[in-house]
Amino acid sequence: MNTPSFLKGLVWLLVPVWVLSCSPKAEVYKVARPLMGTVVEISAVSDDPRHAAGAIQAAFDEMARLEAMMSVFRDESEVSRLNREASSRPVRVSPELFEVIEMSIALSRTTRGAFDITVGPLMQLWPFYVKEKRLPSAGEIQEVLRRVGYVHVILSPKERTVSFAVPGMALDLGGIAKGYAIDRAVAVLKERGITAALVNAGGDLFAYGEKPGNKPWRVGLRHPRNPQELLAALPLSDKAIVTSGDYERYFLVDGKRYSHIVDPRSGVTAQRTASVTVVASSAAYADGLATGILVLGAEEGLALVESLPGVQAAVVTEGKGDELALQVSKGFREAYPLDVRHLAAQRVRLMH
Ligand code: ADP
Ligand code: MG
Repeated sequence: MNTPSFLKGLVWLLVPVWVLSCSPKAEVYKVARPLMGTVVEISAVSDDPRHAAGAIQAAFDEMARLEAMMSVFRDESEVSRLNREASSRPVRVSPELFEVIEMSIALSRTTRGAFDITVGPLMQLWPFYVKEKRLPSAGEIQEVLRRVGYVHVILSPKERTVSFAVPGMALDLGGIAKGYAIDRAVAVLKERGITAALVNAGGDLFAYGEKPGNKPWRVGLRHPRNPQELLAALPLSDKAIVTSGDYERYFLVDGKRYSHIVDPRSGVTAQRTASVTVVASSAAYADGLATGILVLGAEEGLALVESLPGVQAAVVTEGKGDELALQVSKGFREAYPLDVRHLAAQRVRLMH
């Protein structure tokens, strides 16, 4: 058929307009669920609600599977079984558990032992895990410290086995498992074709892609003494941001605050730092590093961050009186300009 050429032009003009007007709009679909001791919120950008719902569900399933595998609060978890058996023989574990243990030991080396998943027996000493509101004696700590130390974990990558060189050791993955689960949830969303999402596990999160309208995900840096206040809103893409602090989980004995993070070298709970926020390309890495830096303290922790490529950190410590001090790494300052006046209004001093 011979279409007049002016009509052809009209057809070409109409096609893209029609496609545009009928293509469904991308939206953010969000689902929240209690998981890993917090509320996990997954936001996925999609133009298809069913596709988004399926992908979010699969990501939650993966996180729940990992929690069941890595929680020390469940007797039937794989890590609990490992803790029961690895003092007497090498125990074969799942690839995921092996990967987390390997990553953890690499992080122990990076943080010179400040991050150490062999803190299990130490955690049992402090009222955070034990209901009794009593502090351990120096003698008790010394006795338990003999069973703490990542150098006593024997890994065999070929057989994928783990064993303990010292009887009575126990792993506690509380400082890294949540980050690892966030990374795995992101991998599941990507495998399912979700091109932009945010996986937020109680403020520890990974964001990738952009929100509809080319807007970046914005993530709040929380005030550690006043967590409903934000110190800054950071634009984040393809990055994890994780905070370890003494404000969410802690216990008080005689009015003194004890955090749920222990120094594996001394056996005492970490006390000098209010919060550590780490930005990195993996949530597991950021999670472990934040815990490790909380133990190391601002000065040594930030010096370490400067030596790690692609890692940024912000550390909040107690300042003079009721004032807090905020110290950030060079990369953090470059990537996220901070509003000194806004900080001052919240009694936070930005240190140089
Ligand atoms: P959150 O529980 O808020 O995510 P963290 O990521 O800092 O905080 O993890 C704290 C948990 O890590 C503790 O509850 C304990 O299970 C474990 N842990 C405590 N101290 C250490 C340490 N020095 N190294 C590794 N893990 C630790
Ligand atoms: Mg951590």
